[in-house]
Amino acid sequence: MAKPTILAVDDDRVVLAAVERDLRRQYGKEYRILGADSGAGALDALRQLQLRNHPVALFLADQRMPQMTGVEFLSQAIALFPTAKRVLLTAYADTEAAIRAINDIRLDHYLMKPWDPPEERLYPVLSDLLADWQAQFRPAFEGIRVIGHQWSAQGHAIKDFLARNQVPYQWLDIEADTTTGQLLAAAGAAPASLPVVIFPDGSHLVQPALAQVAEKVGLRTQARAPFYDLVIVGGGPAGLAAGVYGASEGLRTLIIEREAPGGQAAQSSRIENYLGFPVGLSGLDLARRAVAQATRFGTEILTPQEVTGVQLNGRYKLLTLADGSEVGCHALLVATGVQYRKLDAPGVEALTGAGIYYGAAMTEALSTKGQDAYIVGGGNSAGQAAMYLSGFARQVTILVRGYGLAESMSQYLIDQIGATSNIAVRARTGVVAAQGTANLEALTLTGVDTGATETVPAAALFIFIGAAPRTEWLSDLVERDKQGFILTGSDLLREGKRPRGWSLGRDPYWPESSVPGIFAAGDVRARSVKRIASAVGEGSMAVQFVHQYLAST
Ligand SMILES: Cc1cc2nc3c(=O)[nH]c(=O)nc-3n(C[C@H](O)[C@H](O)[C@H](O)COP(=O)(O)OP(=O)(O)OC[C@H]3O[C@@H](n4cnc5c(N)ncnc54)[C@H](O)[C@@H]3O)c2cc1C
Repeated sequence: MAKPTILAVDDDRVVLAAVERDLRRQYGKEYRILGADSGAGALDALRQLQLRNHPVALFLADQRMPQMTGVEFLSQAIALFPTAKRVLLTAYADTEAAIRAINDIRLDHYLMKPWDPPEERLYPVLSDLLADWQAQFRPAFEGIRVIGHQWSAQGHAIKDFLARNQVPYQWLDIEADTTTGQLLAAAGAAPASLPVVIFPDGSHLVQPALAQVAEKVGLRTQARAPFYDLVIVGGGPAGLAAGVYGASEGLRTLIIEREAPGGQAAQSSRIENYLGFPVGLSGLDLARRAVAQATRFGTEILTPQEVTGVQLNGRYKLLTLADGSEVGCHALLVATGVQYRKLDAPGVEALTGAGIYYGAAMTEALSTKGQDAYIVGGGNSAGQAAMYLSGFARQVTILVRGYGLAESMSQYLIDQIGATSNIAVRARTGVVAAQGTANLEALTLTGVDTGATETVPAAALFIFIGAAPRTEWLSDLVERDKQGFILTGSDLLREGKRPRGWSLGRDPYWPESSVPGIFAAGDVRARSVKRIASAVGEGSMAVQFVHQYLAST
């Protein structure tokens, strides 16, 4: 934590140097001593400290300064640091102004110049005030601060990005937090241009793209080398497992992840069926451990970075990334999982990010406090989200088009939901419209059997309506099924014949696609089991076949 500051202000440089010297001698170990030779200069310095969220313990200002008196300075300084102690350096003639300041700006003390000897006339007063300040001091949050409107989609995207990349941040809602105005002024940012992200070094970004935030927090989006033995597209459980095995077995391995490592699993508030964690663990925790393990073995991870295309150059695979850069490899593992389908109803798209979210969006749970939240979908992911939200929202309602949860959800979750008083399940019900101006305010529901509609107040809607693979970027290079899942191994053989264009004298390996050296693992692979453990297993096993492929090329 940064040392708290004691700020001395005096236009007479000789006096200022003497004050600084005496302060440093007595308090330099515990406090940072800062001097300014004008009120305006001191206020500039304070604004920088405010941007960095560094604490200020005490102001010591000379009353007699030409452009701005000590009292005038203090009255502006305390607006920036309201808990700092206020001391005025005065001459005899200033006594009246100092006494007035006790009432006007709650001046803590006024000292007569000269203050020699400081042991008698300066330190006892200041030490007493500093002890008082320390007793009430609560260290401020020193990480990244994000200022925005509660219902801003861009603000939500930044929060979600930081949370999923496990970067601690503090969210400051412009409407609820009184300090945000000063912070924006100190940063020179207009309240109309939110969200603003302020970093611990005092720098800031206005309405930043995620790649800019990523760069500031030290995430890598550019590959170190032009070519790798193994490139893995997707940093979910399958991709991370492959990263651990690939690098630990000596392959130069790169993972490219579009959003944040962890994939769908990172959205899970509590994974209860993963081997070795009898009391469960959160998806973010699993992702954090997996990233640490993969990078420890030397896997490079690019995030946020998206793969948008792939071409073959002989046996080499050349990937195009969203920023236009390219990276090549011997073997490619596609582990891009699946993504939630969009809910097609009027109002939904416009309010996405402003009360309507795809997936669990755990960062938004707090905003449902005391309000009504709805969940669309009846799978395990919807059930977990309902359990998590029930700790915040007044009422959580799960909407399912089927006859209940039994056909799609694990029994342990159905039991937990049944035992939670503020979760209701509405079967045979769908969402046909969403209403709200700045944010979601109401939903129109319809009965699947009756067609009757009803409009209900709603603060949040979380959508979990089935998922589809996003494999368009592979165009027609590899064979996919009708839904877009990648066909591998024996699924590619038709009446014993190998896929068209297959050039090798062997069948495709179990996780290998219709192109030799391009593999698929996890949810994106056709007919895979859509679970974390199976994705981890497939990613790990795929590396064995990558070795066999590399040995034969
Ligand atoms: C809320 C929720 C809770 C769940 N709970 C459980 C549970 O308790 N137990 C369980 O066993 N399973 C659970 N699942 C299912 C499980 O999470 C998935 O089966 C598993 O994550 C699949 O892993 P994967 O690596 O194949 O794909 P994913 O986890 O989908 O990861 C794929 C990754 O690829 C990235 N990506 C996609 N396209 C690109 C591209 N072009 N370029 C770069 N990156 C790309 C994505 O951003 C994503 O991070 C849950 C799923 C959800 C959504």
